[in-house]
Amino acid sequence: MLELTVEQISMGQQAVDKSAALQLLADKLVADGLVAPGYLAGLQGREAQGSTFLGQGIAIPHGTPDTRELVYATGVRLLQFPDGVDWGDGHIVYLAIGIAAKSDEHLRLLQLLTRALGETDLGEALRRAGSPEALLKLLQGAPQELALDAQMIGLSVAADDFEELVWRGARLLRQADCVSNGFAAVLQQVEALPLGDGLWWLNSEQMVNRPGLAFVTPSRPLRYLGQPLIGLFCLASLGEAHQALLERLCALLIEGRGQELARATTTRAVLEVLGGELPADWPTARIALANAHGLHARPAKILAQLAKSFDGEIRLRVVDSAEPAVSAKSLSKLLSLGVRRGQVLELVVEPGIAVEALPALLAAIEGGLGEEVEPLPVITTVPEPVHAAPVAKAVAEAPAAGTRIQGIAAAPGIAFGPAHVEVLREYDYPARGESVAVERERLQQALIQVRADLEGLILRAQAKAIREIFITHQEMLDDPALTEDVGARLRQGESAPAAWIGVIEAAARQQESLADALLAERAADMRDIGRRVLAQLCGHENTPEPQEPYILVMDEVGPSDVARLDPTRVAGILTARGGATAHSAIVARALGIPAVVGAGDAVLLLAAGTALLIDGGRGRLDVAPSPEDLKRALSDRDLREQRLQAAAARRMESAVTLDGHAVEVCANIGESAGVAAAVEQGAEGVGLLRTELIFMAHSQAPDEAVQEAEYRKVLDGLGGRPLVVRTLDVGGDKPLPYWPIAKEENPFLGVRGIRLTLQRPDVMEGQLRALLRAADNRPLRIMFPMIGSVEEWRQARDMTERLRLEIPVADLQLGIMIEIPSAALLAPVLAREVDFFSVGTNDLTQYTLAIDRGHPTLSAQADGLHPAVLQLIDITVRAAHAHGKWVGVCGELAGDPAAVPLLVGLGVDELSVSARSIAEVKAEIRDLTLTQAQALAQTALGLGTAKEVRALTEKR
Ligand code: PEP
Ligand code: MG
Repeated sequence: MLELTVEQISMGQQAVDKSAALQLLADKLVADGLVAPGYLAGLQGREAQGSTFLGQGIAIPHGTPDTRELVYATGVRLLQFPDGVDWGDGHIVYLAIGIAAKSDEHLRLLQLLTRALGETDLGEALRRAGSPEALLKLLQGAPQELALDAQMIGLSVAADDFEELVWRGARLLRQADCVSNGFAAVLQQVEALPLGDGLWWLNSEQMVNRPGLAFVTPSRPLRYLGQPLIGLFCLASLGEAHQALLERLCALLIEGRGQELARATTTRAVLEVLGGELPADWPTARIALANAHGLHARPAKILAQLAKSFDGEIRLRVVDSAEPAVSAKSLSKLLSLGVRRGQVLELVVEPGIAVEALPALLAAIEGGLGEEVEPLPVITTVPEPVHAAPVAKAVAEAPAAGTRIQGIAAAPGIAFGPAHVEVLREYDYPARGESVAVERERLQQALIQVRADLEGLILRAQAKAIREIFITHQEMLDDPALTEDVGARLRQGESAPAAWIGVIEAAARQQESLADALLAERAADMRDIGRRVLAQLCGHENTPEPQEPYILVMDEVGPSDVARLDPTRVAGILTARGGATAHSAIVARALGIPAVVGAGDAVLLLAAGTALLIDGGRGRLDVAPSPEDLKRALSDRDLREQRLQAAAARRMESAVTLDGHAVEVCANIGESAGVAAAVEQGAEGVGLLRTELIFMAHSQAPDEAVQEAEYRKVLDGLGGRPLVVRTLDVGGDKPLPYWPIAKEENPFLGVRGIRLTLQRPDVMEGQLRALLRAADNRPLRIMFPMIGSVEEWRQARDMTERLRLEIPVADLQLGIMIEIPSAALLAPVLAREVDFFSVGTNDLTQYTLAIDRGHPTLSAQADGLHPAVLQLIDITVRAAHAHGKWVGVCGELAGDPAAVPLLVGLGVDELSVSARSIAEVKAEIRDLTLTQAQALAQTALGLGTAKEVRALTEKR
């Protein structure tokens, strides 16, 4: 790449006229091996076509296209003429820069050089310069103002971690020529400074050419050193240029306005807050430059001349470049942009002259600015998929009528109804719009239609919560800030769909980066409404919801999707991906909607309205079942309905097998409010209180008094029934916003559960004290999550026992969760010391099978009925019983009807399930005999796959 160096400069040259100066230059270029001897003719020919005088005492002689083949290597030579050379038209040249260029590489040089042309008295200074260094300094002597404009801001950039975000920031600085290559590596070595509100600061003086500040925000929420990472400043510092900005930023943070930056969805908003150079709110138009050699001197001159014929300001910038807009009337500034063929130019024109100037300038550029141009190929853009869910591409066909597909049983129950397929499509739309007016009208029409659709949904919604969701969507559509941002992008020439989805996506990403989980969830609503409007704009009608209860078919259902479902309209859920322990499955169970998950991508191709039968208990899907199959299934459903009713009637009775073996059935809850419903559904206690949910419900760590009150409520609600509390289980996929945890490559294998709380004894002791105080001699069982070693258990136990001396509790048991295979294998040792075990099958399955429980495609295989998991449960139960201790199961497996006989047969003493499943699990136990269950379990232990185990339980 061309750069200016002192070696290229020859000082104190003399030439009587322009022709002698060109001869000197040609000789120099030839002597230095850059060109062949005939190049002088090229230099002369070029001058004959038009002067290469640039301004400020500088000329840039270069060859013609005919003499390009005489160029051996691209390069420049600079000759200083202190006495000046008459370059014609009254222009005196003190510095001639001879260019040998095969292609348009010299544009880069012009770009470097013309920055200096902003100086007012450069010509005189060049004349007087006494050394190559001084001369070079003058050429590079751009004003040392901090560069901060729209091109230095990257909102919602794709970055997976801090390093990538740094790289993106450094790239903006590099593109703006503030820094040299390698600055990113420099920044990676620098210690980042947290500014609060998720904002971070990095700066360095190394490799800096001119001072500049970049601000980047990630497209999805990130964390760094345990803290949220919402925005990153990267400063290329040189001297004091950034001082004023830094003071402004500090004042802003002190006033607590950091969130304004973190939440900004437009570069304008960021610049307004930071006081950077605001883009003018003037009419704009964009056009791609088709000239083969870019915007070199001749076309640039024609453009500048045309611009000068209008009495008002006209600016030009290169879209997607970091360079700020320059005056289109200045040849040197135009050249400084270094525009290449295919790059898109944006014209920004003062309103008073826009009506005339914009069409004239566009026509001139389109016409080639005095050159013959080959038209550019037409490009349309396909946006990145708006949200993760990929479309089924690999699968060509939908399953045919009569097909039976085995998926994963996620929520029990049989459902029949027409398929309502909600697949996220990829929309194809042009990035550029026809005209601002046309695109604005298109958007208006789409918004009117979507508002009407929402109105219909609100009227039809039976549940208040669902109505409220759609009312919120309406409010979002009417948000003036949104309209304003979209309007700004339309004015910049974007098409309506591109502008709309660009603004929505940026807003959603900002939203989901918020620390407040509830607010962050609104991002899903934004995307929802965004997709509705996009579909309308792209002419895709959303398939209307069937009138009768339907089977909702989706790629993967997020927990919030399920939570907003209206169980009176959604008879069942069928997903292409996901597993039984995915949160969506947990929510589906809680709502009582039958669900089959992980049925494969082909289901996404099902035609709307296809009759579907799903058996959520068995994980089965029948496509357009035969009348006989349907009849059988519906009678099964009726039978199940009757069974459930019968079970519900006996929900308060204990669960005793036909041969007199009692199994305790308890509830899993996450908040004190859940206890009343659990008792009402027949819970004999709480088998798992997930206390992290209590912590997550607060924006700061709840203090001891707050916790004590929560735990008290649960114990009060239980009225003497036992409470099994799990101490704080965060880390991994469950971060606490206010508790910084260092970033980890594998969070599930990192500092989570007990490992984390043992590192924060203050937090753990606080929780234990709150629990012990709340007990008041009622039956309290405390268990520790993610125990993987005997030391961890002993440390946790010792801490509790120490506190127990201060706060005595009569009925206290201490136990551990068996979630890590090492704990199960060590059960014979641990059983001597603990009072009980509770098997967390969700994590135990994940760690035994080495499948991330949230993995989008693999988690479907993470079946807790895998014989390997059953073996570990067997070891645990045997060890516990050998020492007279009890074992519970509190993972999702405990509520799986196929698993209940096996767990009972393995000797599990307590099953802790979601409140809704209690009656059914109790009824199932009442139908078993222990001896049959034991035989079944023994057979299962001898099998090789989860599938075989499931087949075995079906035969029962
Ligand atoms: C488990 O891992 O089975 C469990 C009950 O804990 P959680 O699902 O909360 O991780
Ligand atoms: Mg767990």
